[in-house]
Amino acid sequence: GRRPLVAGNWKMNGLKADGLALTDAVLAGVRGGAWRCELLVCPPATLLSLVGDRLKGSPVRLGAQDCHHKPSGAHTGDLAAPMLADIGCRFVIVGHSERRADHGETDAEVKAKAEAAMAATLIPIVCVGETLAMRERGDALKVVAAQLAGSLPVGASADGLVVAYEPVWAIGTGRTPTTADIGAMHQALRAELKRHLGAESDRMRILYGGSVKSSNAAEILAIDGVDGALVGGASLKAEDFLTIARAC
Ligand code: 13P
Repeated sequence: GRRPLVAGNWKMNGLKADGLALTDAVLAGVRGGAWRCELLVCPPATLLSLVGDRLKGSPVRLGAQDCHHKPSGAHTGDLAAPMLADIGCRFVIVGHSERRADHGETDAEVKAKAEAAMAATLIPIVCVGETLAMRERGDALKVVAAQLAGSLPVGASADGLVVAYEPVWAIGTGRTPTTADIGAMHQALRAELKRHLGAESDRMRILYGGSVKSSNAAEILAIDGVDGALVGGASLKAEDFLTIARAC
């Protein structure tokens, strides 16, 4: 089976003291327990080293929220995948809908970022998801499958790539698709993965993200084909994050 992954995306939140307090609270809750799921936190870039040092020797992995598609160069303000690997990141989120919307990232760019991440031995978490308009037009399955096809890096292995389905209209809104809709989307995404990557795709994890919280986590994580969660707001509270992780 696929080991579930519960990932916290802290987004643009937290000064040093907040990040350390959150990390310590997560670590305190993690200690002693046997975790069925893999645990990951993705702090803002300013906190990666600090949080990463604290996580050393723990089962909680470190991830970044974005990377550039080149390994180095004249790109002011950007961070390259090898830099993230160098400070202890194992994962990097690419193509989050907030980056697609705020920074105009295209599928081709997301694909290049995922390939750069893999070249630096990071595991990219490739995000896809429809807007409310697409869902209401009845296009969600088609549009998101096409988005995945355009964003998939070449040559990914089962352990070397994670996909996250995050409907844009469910992010930070408290609204989620029905369990049937989530199940259908994850099935469509797995079929798309299989078309591109063959048998390797069977063991690849597909996460759900968008208003996952302690009260709905068990129901969402029980959906066939959902291999974990990408958690935003609720990952900023250690108790909520751990409750979600326990629901795996
Ligand atoms: P929320 O959990 O705050 O809805 O955010 C989801 C998300 O965007 C995670 O990447």
